[in-house]
Amino acid sequence: MSTIAAIATAQASSGLGTIKISGENALTIADSVFSAVSGKKICDTPGYRALYGKVHEGETVIDDAVALVFRAPKSYTGEDVVEISCHGGLYILKRVLRAVLNAGAEPAEGGEFTKRAFLNGKMDLSEAEAVMSLISASGEEARAATLNALDGALSNEINACRDRLAVTAAFMAAWVDYPDDEIPELSDTELLTTLTEVKATLTKLLDGFDAGKAILDGVDTAIVGRPNVGKSTLLNALSGTDRAIVTSVAGTTRDVLEETVKVGNVTLRLADTAGIRTDTDDEIEKIGVIRARERFDRATLVLMVLDAQSPLTDDDRELIKMCNSKNCVIVINKTDGEIALCIEEIKSLSNSPVAEISAKNHLGLDNLIEIVEDVLGTAGFDPSAPLITTERQRNCVLKAVDNVAEALDAVNMGITADAVNVCIDCAIENLSILTGEKATQTVVDEVFKNFCVGK
Ligand code: GDP
Ligand code: MG
Repeated sequence: MSTIAAIATAQASSGLGTIKISGENALTIADSVFSAVSGKKICDTPGYRALYGKVHEGETVIDDAVALVFRAPKSYTGEDVVEISCHGGLYILKRVLRAVLNAGAEPAEGGEFTKRAFLNGKMDLSEAEAVMSLISASGEEARAATLNALDGALSNEINACRDRLAVTAAFMAAWVDYPDDEIPELSDTELLTTLTEVKATLTKLLDGFDAGKAILDGVDTAIVGRPNVGKSTLLNALSGTDRAIVTSVAGTTRDVLEETVKVGNVTLRLADTAGIRTDTDDEIEKIGVIRARERFDRATLVLMVLDAQSPLTDDDRELIKMCNSKNCVIVINKTDGEIALCIEEIKSLSNSPVAEISAKNHLGLDNLIEIVEDVLGTAGFDPSAPLITTERQRNCVLKAVDNVAEALDAVNMGITADAVNVCIDCAIENLSILTGEKATQTVVDEVFKNFCVGK
């Protein structure tokens, strides 16, 4: 395999920056651009050692640098690796990288270092995916959960399920193939127990996916409601800013305003929309209403705001019904004055939980946040539990659960052992695709496609 190189640190000016070289010729290539003050060669240096010196191209000295040496297989990629750390000016880093490429390295593609780590058995596919999630983690829970995945929490859970299925399948196959030998038949109860337990474990993983995704990726949230109910005031109250203009003139917010807020465990990308109303003649407001509808359709969570001080309108009723197909919290605002709204009617129209607040006076916001966390399932999130972090992993588990369910049905209907085994084999196959043991080249390429260069 070729020797690859890339800038591994941010593409911006900083105190230090690192160029990473990995592959068969990493040590000799590094020697040709780096001279240690001690006169030692990188090729003669054992792994886990650092040399201080100058990085240069030909006679031209580029910068002072430290070269860190890793020897195969004890490196991130499993290959020989040299990391040259110099001053983190973008020009300097590009200049050093050019020298390294001129000395014979190839520019690394996005994710190529991690891909090599996977191909060399340093990590499985789900752990490689965790590397990307860890880099983009935006909060403590996301960091803890992805580091846990990188340490193999998900892989261990998946492998344990796969192994239990494999033992069962082997047992049954032996019993079918060698009926004359003294292989005791696996009892239906044992078989059912294994299948039921594996199915429960996998289903639990699936159940945690949405909450995990909310914590890892944040949640697109639309604040909707007819004009003047207090949507902009709510956005300002939750974000602690005065981003949105608040007036008593209906139709003040015409475009979609966004603000990112951390609410309990999760990050909400709040979009304050123009009030959705059907009877406006204002051209700009009409466009705002269309954008509000788009935002509503796209949102993972909807905060549907109502005005406690005025009775329900037909527009309200329409919106409440629309929200029934969404993850939604009905927010009854302006509870600081006389209540004109019939909460019973709302409850009869809606299947969403209701929060009563006064956005203007910042009352009831903690309760609203609790309800939001409840709806998203993030309240009791346990970052130490195994977590599915990508759609790809989720698809594999979904298929495996289906396969195990089919196997269970087959056992219950008294269908022959080899038919049951076909289903179990499919489940094992899908779990092996998840960890990458049996993933096709296309799947592997797809996983690494979105990685950044230098990782
Ligand atoms: P939007 O059109 O839904 O964005 O509504 P705004 O946030 O612009 O608010 C409309 C009007 O309602 C403004 O005059 C706000 O001061 C007022 N308002 C917002 N929240 C409350 C509240 O909790 N209590 C009361 N009494 N008035 C509020
Ligand atoms: Mg507004």
